[in-house]
Amino acid sequence: MFENRDFADVTVIVGEDEEPFRLHRSIIFPSSKLFKDELEDGSTLEVLDIHVTIFQKIIEWQYEQGYQLSWSSGHGNLQMFETAHYFKIETLRHEILKNLSTQCSTKLCGAIAAKTDVNLGDLVRNFAAICKLCDESDLEILRPVARGIVLHWDVTPNGILENLNSGAYGHIFVAVMMGIPHDTPCGHCGFRGIKTMVREQNTLTIQKRRRFY
Ligand SMILES: [Zn+2]
Repeated sequence: MFENRDFADVTVIVGEDEEPFRLHRSIIFPSSKLFKDELEDGSTLEVLDIHVTIFQKIIEWQYEQGYQLSWSSGHGNLQMFETAHYFKIETLRHEILKNLSTQCSTKLCGAIAAKTDVNLGDLVRNFAAICKLCDESDLEILRPVARGIVLHWDVTPNGILENLNSGAYGHIFVAVMMGIPHDTPCGHCGFRGIKTMVREQNTLTIQKRRRFY
């Protein structure tokens, strides 16, 4: 069906090069509220600010071709999530977060086990951007990714404050991160995240102070 465009009954014009995609209502309507709303009474839709390669992935998923997302610290997930969010494809939004959660547990525990540095900066930024497209009803599906980050995130309180002040962290990001217990180590690799750093910093400060007295 994906290759066969003979019975295609709608056209979506995509990207700045205005590439036409001939598609089938019966395939793209059930999962996408936007396609249904915009194309119910017409046969052409222009989405020129969407990237063609990302659109292709979304459509392949709708035609049950699956999709591949390699590890990019959440960058690919963010791009795809933005597009799935735009087209109001709920199931794919969930799917992309599930994919990110699985990738997190493999990559983060793996890096800790191999004793390589875990720089979560990019992942946290991309996840915070994903959270900005979410609301309270998404907290449950965000939680597994937040859990992976919290358990492996060696961040300082100052680092968190800076990002809060700059507006990089929205209220959904804060809510979901706060909901994860911070005092348990990762069950797979044994790493301790945020809380340990806070405790170590306090201990350090107390030791330094003691020297003065
Ligand atoms: Zn781990």
